[in-house]
Amino acid sequence: MAKFIGKANDGFEPGWQIVPLSGQKEITLQAGSGFNVVDGGAHKKIIALKETSHGGNRLPVRRFMIKGVKRGKTVVWAKDKAKLAAQIVVEVKPQRVVTIALNYVEDKAGHKTKRSPDTAGALLKKINDIYLPQANVKFRKVSAGIRKINEDLGPIVMRDRKTPSKDKFSVLIANRVPGAQINVFFVWECEKAGLDADVEGHAEIAISRNEKTNCMVEDSLGTSFERVVAHEVGHNLGLKDDYTNPKLLMYGKKEKINGTLLTRSEILSICAQ
Ligand SMILES: [Zn+2]
Repeated sequence: MAKFIGKANDGFEPGWQIVPLSGQKEITLQAGSGFNVVDGGAHKKIIALKETSHGGNRLPVRRFMIKGVKRGKTVVWAKDKAKLAAQIVVEVKPQRVVTIALNYVEDKAGHKTKRSPDTAGALLKKINDIYLPQANVKFRKVSAGIRKINEDLGPIVMRDRKTPSKDKFSVLIANRVPGAQINVFFVWECEKAGLDADVEGHAEIAISRNEKTNCMVEDSLGTSFERVVAHEVGHNLGLKDDYTNPKLLMYGKKEKINGTLLTRSEILSICAQ
């Protein structure tokens, strides 16, 4: 059966993709030999569609480049004579730029993160590699540096909503870089009061779109570190935890935390309007 698919990291929702305005995305048509592939909304000129596979429409696997010409929504059809064999909905969205500050925390008592600002560029690239192809959301670093806190935050930086004197997350927030929409604080260890689970990060969940938000992420993470930062930043954009699919970035259980995918509704809630 004929089927359109995107590249692996472009999004996984079947039959739907975001294409960047003034950018492009490649899709593949499988089992589409001989079919006529057209833009279903051609009169609106939202996209420019071009077949890029050599050998033309006889190939079983055909590739197409979709350019985002103007904002809007259209559909690409693969037609077997008059019959519709496959389709993919395409939404052209401009890029949303989100400013971010990466704070490497040191406190007055000598507690400090093992992470270094030298790694901020590589970290940011990993986060953008998750969000940019799927949602056309780009994080732009406004600062990355050591953040000295003039207080003892303790061996574990606590989030404790009920006891303000013990709530050290609020101390971090008081030290945020004001010019960034999102502030990430890297700490040695963090926990949430009243929660049995060992948390690796904590984030405010944005309620409104341009809300300034903060999160903290602990050091004691191995290869999952970048993914945890990307997950907490997702909360900072308003996304909630998911407990159904480990392939998702917002999967909230501690086991198997390597998912990087965003659902269609998540993408539509965070992308440029
Ligand atoms: Zn979460």
